[in-house]
Amino acid sequence: MAQSENKVCTVKSWQEGPLIDESTLQEDLTRHFYYTLGRDMVGESRLYLYHALALTIRDRLVARCRTTRQQRQLSPTRQVAYLSLEFLMGRALGNAVLNLDLEDNVRHAVQEYCTTLEEVAEAEHDAGLGNGGLGRLAACFLDSCATLGLPVIGYGIRYEYGMFNQSIEQGHQVEHPDNWLREGHPWEITAPENTRRIKFFGHVEVYQDKHGRKHHQWVNTQDVLAVPYDVPVPGYKNEVVNTLRLWKSEATDEFNLSEFNAGSYTEAVARKNLAEQITMVLYPNDSSENGKELRLRQQYFLSSASLQDLLANWVAGHGEDFSEFAQYNVFQLNDTHPSIAVAELMRLLVDEHDLDWDAAWHITTRTMAYTNHTLLPEALEKWSVSLFSRLLPRLLEIIYEINARFLTEVACQWPGDMQKQRSMSLIEEGAHPQVRMAYLAIVGSFSVNGVAALHTELLTGGLFNEFYQLWPHKFNNKTNGVTPRRWLAHCNPELAKLIGSKIGDQWVAHFADIEKIRRYYDDKAFQTQWLSVKQHNKQKLVDLVKEACGVEFDVAMMFDVQVKRIHEYKRQLLNILHVIYLYERIRKGDTANLTPRCVLLGGKAAPGYFMAKLIIKLFNNVAEAINNDPLAKPYLRVAFLPNYNVSAMEVICPATDLSEQISTTGKEASGTGNMKFMMNGAVTIGTLDGANIEIRDAVGVENFFLFGAKSDELAAIRSTYNPNQIIQSNPALQEVMELLESGHFNLFEPGLFQPIIDSIRDPHDQWLVAYDFESYIEAQQKVELAYQDKEYWTRLSILNTAASGEFSSDRTILQYSQEIWQLAQQ
Ligand SMILES: *Cc1c(COP(=O)(O)O)cnc(C)c1O
Repeated sequence: MAQSENKVCTVKSWQEGPLIDESTLQEDLTRHFYYTLGRDMVGESRLYLYHALALTIRDRLVARCRTTRQQRQLSPTRQVAYLSLEFLMGRALGNAVLNLDLEDNVRHAVQEYCTTLEEVAEAEHDAGLGNGGLGRLAACFLDSCATLGLPVIGYGIRYEYGMFNQSIEQGHQVEHPDNWLREGHPWEITAPENTRRIKFFGHVEVYQDKHGRKHHQWVNTQDVLAVPYDVPVPGYKNEVVNTLRLWKSEATDEFNLSEFNAGSYTEAVARKNLAEQITMVLYPNDSSENGKELRLRQQYFLSSASLQDLLANWVAGHGEDFSEFAQYNVFQLNDTHPSIAVAELMRLLVDEHDLDWDAAWHITTRTMAYTNHTLLPEALEKWSVSLFSRLLPRLLEIIYEINARFLTEVACQWPGDMQKQRSMSLIEEGAHPQVRMAYLAIVGSFSVNGVAALHTELLTGGLFNEFYQLWPHKFNNKTNGVTPRRWLAHCNPELAKLIGSKIGDQWVAHFADIEKIRRYYDDKAFQTQWLSVKQHNKQKLVDLVKEACGVEFDVAMMFDVQVKRIHEYKRQLLNILHVIYLYERIRKGDTANLTPRCVLLGGKAAPGYFMAKLIIKLFNNVAEAINNDPLAKPYLRVAFLPNYNVSAMEVICPATDLSEQISTTGKEASGTGNMKFMMNGAVTIGTLDGANIEIRDAVGVENFFLFGAKSDELAAIRSTYNPNQIIQSNPALQEVMELLESGHFNLFEPGLFQPIIDSIRDPHDQWLVAYDFESYIEAQQKVELAYQDKEYWTRLSILNTAASGEFSSDRTILQYSQEIWQLAQQ
């Protein structure tokens, strides 16, 4: 990029910062509406009003972003780059209004346009740049970092198409592209002067300089530009605004000259598309990898652009002296997706900044930190060596060098143990050798963390045990959390107000304070208010379900909810079997003790995941049968909410009575949906999996509906698992299976659900659906009894919110900050 001379010119009237506070908000809104957007008809469009409001608020964010940056320049401290292929941000408007404390002013300003803040906010499209929990965690972390005033910058990809939109047609999931930028994205500001250049393909040449030192040159590459788009991330009422920097790929303007001369001008220009494809679309696979070349390109693109960005900033301040670089920088890798950053930092330091290998490795292994998110073997990323050598030849050489040195260390620790070297090698040998990305991340990082206590135990005791033996000090746990700003203060304003009336508003930034409402759990008047808030929230969900599914829910019934990605390990199937079981009871007239309930399911299936899609279809067919049976109406209503996303969850979790967290033990790393529900006073039915264990400990075992196999029993259960015998010896399960196998739910689609039936009856069923059925039904019966006692249930609800203090992502981020990042206390 051409830089003009560095003349400093400061416009005097801007030295103090322009007047940009709440007093001018009304005028600014009008100015943006009339002039920036050129609109004049009031009420013409909510969309334009939303844009004008977003720009008005963005002005205030930009001002604070500048002062945040300036203050940090005055006293530089260690900073963190959070590298993630996903940031599931959802909508920004409501969150910014809350965090900047502008609600009254904004409400007042919007009134002039004869509408409400809620209506305007509906015009914003969700930023769905993530699949599920992992991407939403990154978003919650950004909010907590800004709220804690920590110097953390998020780096991600500005996908043109985010997580697909889901519709349901004839009970089947149908995917539609999510063109979320079509109507503009008013929050971002592009910074083309910080464009970075990313290399692909080509080959490596080696030469010796005059001192006899070897140099590697990666040449003949096909380059792509990375252009940054910055999104402001406001802290809660603290004047801090951090940045999320999202990279968009663009073609260079260099064309293949021979092609030009051959008269292929248009073809050469059209080739630009290839470069622009890199950031075109988010891969919609949650916790499974499929080895697509474009995905590896995305990973390298993000890693390289972000590292180059940080190194360029470093060089601008320190020249080519990297001796203190590791003191001032940490890179947190959100899963293995950006783990190629380990090799890329080595390449940049050695090849581009002339450090020797040992100095570069010293820096890399003191700045990289890796968060593992899953134990599922199919999610452990591996890339074929042949793909690597074609796409990123220099990176493969570096990985080989890292591996050679690492295996020497293994040989020292376990002399003569060749099996150890094979099993720990970064390269999996075989007919098609593969690079093991998780191992690269572990070897290159000073910290490796799991995301809940059980998950970390299973990592160190199982999956990564050999690495744990070698480097026990690297491993640590950081139990996930969610931000109480979005997931309580913003999404449940009535409950927030009620809580505030008793304990003040400190809890929004100091969530441990939420424990103080425990004092009121027995207070009758408070219980009545609590219940009334829940009923209001339930009414809003009733309206949403009516509009989106055409199903009538009833606020007088229990709201039983499972929303999350559809995956066999999350066992939506077990939930369906329980629904069928309830339906059987209704058909038999066994309704004396039945608690009326509305069952809501929501979530997206990966487009190529056959079983997950079939589970959606089964649920919809079961729902259809039940909702059309007048016998069932007083007791059971069932709906699948299409297109589950962040904004939907903001309506769902405040309205839920019963939170379904029923994964097969040992499979859900943490879960975060469980925490959002708990904060909003839902009671959990769940297995001893992920953070459920910590949730149960926090709320008290008597206030949690536990069922299912325990983690230390699993090996024994699996070795003798006989689902057919379990079905035979359990009359309830037998009846459920009979109804399912009779074709009752697929009268016109014979055999449709056979794969599901087979999976339940399969002795190798990893998910142990039949095994946990009986204890699940028993736990559900306890839930029914508890719910029938309104006062008791309300107490449970209050206790859940009161005990959710440790599930704030503020607590999580403080631990990252103190135990991994070692940031100075702000
Ligand atoms: C919180 C959240 C998730 C994660 O839910 P789990 O139940 O932990 O799997 C997924 N998607 C969205 C939209 C969320 O808000």
